[in-house]
Amino acid sequence: MVCDLLVVGCGLSGSEFLCNLLQALCERPPSRPVGISVIDRSGKFSRGIPYSDLSPPDSLLIESVERSTPPDFHEWLVDKEREPRFGRAGELVSSVQWLRQHGADIARRRFADMYCPRHLFGDYQQAKLERSLDRARSLGVASVSFQVDEVVDLAADGGAGWCARLASAESVRFCSAVLSVGAIPRVPHPSLFARDGYIEDLYADGFTSFKAVVRDRPANRIDVAIIGANAGAIELIYCIETDADLRRKIRGISTISTEGFLLPGCLSSEEKTSSYLGFDFPSAPAYVDAARNSIQERRLRTVKGKVVSLSKNRDQIVVRLADSSELRAHVVVHCGGAGRMDKHSSGLIASIQKMIPSCENRFNKGFKLDAGTYKISGAARVSILGPLLNGDTVQSYVESISTIHRIAPEVARHVFEDIIRDLSQPSELEARRVRSGRYQP
Ligand SMILES: Cc1cc2nc3c(=O)[nH]c(=O)nc-3n(C[C@H](O)[C@H](O)[C@H](O)COP(=O)(O)OP(=O)(O)OC[C@H]3O[C@@H](n4cnc5c(N)ncnc54)[C@H](O)[C@@H]3O)c2cc1C
Repeated sequence: MVCDLLVVGCGLSGSEFLCNLLQALCERPPSRPVGISVIDRSGKFSRGIPYSDLSPPDSLLIESVERSTPPDFHEWLVDKEREPRFGRAGELVSSVQWLRQHGADIARRRFADMYCPRHLFGDYQQAKLERSLDRARSLGVASVSFQVDEVVDLAADGGAGWCARLASAESVRFCSAVLSVGAIPRVPHPSLFARDGYIEDLYADGFTSFKAVVRDRPANRIDVAIIGANAGAIELIYCIETDADLRRKIRGISTISTEGFLLPGCLSSEEKTSSYLGFDFPSAPAYVDAARNSIQERRLRTVKGKVVSLSKNRDQIVVRLADSSELRAHVVVHCGGAGRMDKHSSGLIASIQKMIPSCENRFNKGFKLDAGTYKISGAARVSILGPLLNGDTVQSYVESISTIHRIAPEVARHVFEDIIRDLSQPSELEARRVRSGRYQP
């Protein structure tokens, strides 16, 4: 397959980038339709992990609607609430109920203390991309294809071209690429699996494996240890506390973190409930209340420590901490942060590291970029958007809706300029594109 632009990963970042690029193409139509290939391994186009069914249906935005989402989304909510027939096939019951409950506040545009279901934000982002695609198609400025597959390898293809190899063994030749692949995956534990009571990634299946592991334990008084105490941990605590069956089976929940607090809400079982580092971490009050109740019922405790190893011992997992203490639990869930660039946990990132030695930034959390461009230093046609920008490149944490919405237009502007430049200087790749017959105008 041959295209002008390859977009790898189409969660919120890939989708917001596409909306901006398509808008630029509609405003300044190119000399022929631009061929864009979008590849995502989960197939959750526009939604990615947080806003699709990879998160439980009642998952809420971490920050308030006002603080974290664009004004356009607020107006979408107002229209949605007014829609006479919301609650149609395909809409989540939890989202419909939430809209009904919050109708009055939505109509009055009171968004400051509102935490809406993340799936609703996914509905909005998907509708936004569909609108952009329809407009671009009707104006004939782009030909966009979507494919469920994984890009496992990226390499220069001689001249100005590049080549991506897919898990399906197909390959894609392209001139420019945007990597919007989310956070760097953690290296999985080599010998512990769900059958042992170990959940490496809660969001691989919307908590289904976690619930199955708890359900399948014969004992009723089981202990759960959560590695990490950030947004994922508090979401799991909320899931347990709002599910009567899980509550009945689970005797204790321990979060283990270097801070010893549950960061969203800054709760601690040592009653040191406080602002951490002098500022509040935002979190949906429903989540904070669930964690507070769990502490009061003596189910949840927060442990300060650093996990150094995990091992299986009969029906439990032994969690060893850096101070040589240990903790035993029937189920251990890893809610720690993302992986690092040096872990080689992603074939795609490893292939770029092989091609461009020392391409990682000084925090090892993303790539070194050419100043002001969002392009990988040494691979000037490969742009980055999303968590891979974390580090010193952007002056904020790029794992939030607001930052992605702020940066996507800039990435799109640079890529748009490259595409327009390419179209004015037909290359060998352009000749191949025409010969291959794919993305023909
Ligand atoms: C559980 C969770 C909840 C969150 N909640 C909020 C919130 O409430 N508010 C907020 O502001 N931010 C939140 N965030 C931060 C979040 O990271 C951003 O809002 C945003 O979702 C990031 O989007 P993304 O597209 O960069 O990454 P992702 O959503 O991770 O999407 C990346 C996509 O790339 C695909 N992909 C990865 N590798 C490949 C490959 N090699 N080939 C092909 N496809 C690939 C994946 O399938 C995925 O669809 C949350 C994050 C998580 C994980």
